[in-house]
Amino acid sequence: MAQVHVESFEAGPLGCMCSIVADLEAKTAIVIDPGGDADHINERLTALGCTLTRVIHTHTHFDHVGATPELQTAHNCTCSIHEADRFLYDLLPVQAAMFGMGTPGRADMEGSLANGKPVSVGAHELDVLHVPGHTPGSTAFFLPSGGPNGEPIVFAGDTLFQGSVGRTDLWGGDSDALITSVKTRLFALSDDAIVVPGHGPLTSIGVEKRTNPFVRG
Ligand SMILES: [Zn+2]
Ligand SMILES: [Zn+2]
Repeated sequence: MAQVHVESFEAGPLGCMCSIVADLEAKTAIVIDPGGDADHINERLTALGCTLTRVIHTHTHFDHVGATPELQTAHNCTCSIHEADRFLYDLLPVQAAMFGMGTPGRADMEGSLANGKPVSVGAHELDVLHVPGHTPGSTAFFLPSGGPNGEPIVFAGDTLFQGSVGRTDLWGGDSDALITSVKTRLFALSDDAIVVPGHGPLTSIGVEKRTNPFVRG
């Protein structure tokens, strides 16, 4: 079986990390957190020769869902959140206004993402980890390989950053829950796992375990 293809890039008004995870043999792909720049995402899917089957979201802040409606219209794909973030999707106009942005369009967003219920991409599977704290429905997605050297990789959203963690002062945020999520769900992954955070540079589980002042020890 061929190695799963992973690429990540900044997209949208706040530079959210968007990722494409693809099975190049099956010519199928999913997108994680299309914060904006639907044209660029579509160009990459075309270059990879892949059909977009599903869009999944680490959480439902407006800067992670901006291009979702355009992708759904173009590809007729399923778009998924964790149901505990449903209220945030309903608050999208309020969220965008708070950051001085126009309201993004709305997708038909279904809420089936759940802890332990994997998401498939062709022959590959991402494990779904519910990591509440930044938002009640925050989820991380884990691939056992897919890093540049075949390492495991986890798409952590705004739960864990290089040297920091996500803010918990927005709707439904809970700092105790976030710390518990990081320690019990993300730090249970192997130290060599690459972390693709919701914003900023990549890191690894091992580095964050040793050095992240918010969740060390
Ligand atoms: Zn966020
Ligand atoms: Zn974000």
